[in-house]
Amino acid sequence: MTLTVVGSINIDHVIRLTQFPRPGETLTGHDYQIVPGGKGANQAVAAARAGASTRFIACVGDDALAQSLVAGFAADGINTQAIASISQVNTGVALIQVNSDGENTIALAAGANAYLTPEQLAANCEGLACKQLLLQLEIPLATNIAAASQAKAQGARVILNPAPAQALPEALLSLVDVITPNETEAEQLTGIVVSDDKGAAQAAAALHKKGIATVIITLGARGVWLSEHGKAGQLISGFNVKAIDTTAAGDTFNGALLAALQEQLPLLRAIQFAQAAAALSVTAQGAQTSIPYQADIQAFLD
Ligand code: ATP
Repeated sequence: MTLTVVGSINIDHVIRLTQFPRPGETLTGHDYQIVPGGKGANQAVAAARAGASTRFIACVGDDALAQSLVAGFAADGINTQAIASISQVNTGVALIQVNSDGENTIALAAGANAYLTPEQLAANCEGLACKQLLLQLEIPLATNIAAASQAKAQGARVILNPAPAQALPEALLSLVDVITPNETEAEQLTGIVVSDDKGAAQAAAALHKKGIATVIITLGARGVWLSEHGKAGQLISGFNVKAIDTTAAGDTFNGALLAALQEQLPLLRAIQFAQAAAALSVTAQGAQTSIPYQADIQAFLD
């Protein structure tokens, strides 16, 4: 059965400049690119490139770039039948500034992503039968809750990457089997600062209390903190690579993790595979451009 991703599609407009403009100031950048993005899209691409049969449920606008985005997903082998085009609306947009220190600022306009309501979800596809459902937080919360409850009712495992960081209701958290926050998101969800292993263990315990069986807190270059309910948590180190651009490291991790779990890999091996994919992604520029393929991930691990 197919792995299903429900989530966002964005067109990223990226300007690189020496420093960020202050309010009221205009500065000229030295590089501009339009690239595909959005957490849902990045994670669907990561899952498909990592070898999983992947269905992506999403909305685009009726602007000129939308169809080429969808064609790009299809070229990656993603089932795009449940991507709807919403008329008189723009595809989601992210305006990204990157300064010479590699820091970024991001302004988002949800566009068609905001139109992926529970009703639209039902219109996009007949049902949510799948083995695993992967969600993020760039579409309406009500849709994530509807998708999670439908998939769960049909026996699916529900994985939530709770990004961008925000507080979440029990109605969603109670449906989640695996949660994959980064340190900031874990703090946002639990109020516990995740700056060391002790903080990670405490945050994981708080998430277990909300009914989530498996907590995987991503810790950037350090790796991940894995905590399964009822077992001692552990740090699983990441791979040591020369990082060039960490954009979409988290998205790559999530997509590749699901692809590995779809192949029935045990959790520790699936995390190792996902960390290899994410490490490879940080060695290349960009978001979707940096997401590796199954063969590259295997070669890196061999
Ligand atoms: P982003 O928002 O940049 O997509 P994130 O904050 O969601 O990322 P991170 O915790 O930064 O997620 O990274 C996810 C995973 O990617 C890490 O657990 C690790 O396996 C891998 N990773 C991230 N940065 C590095 C790095 N510099 N070197 C090696 N692996 C990395």
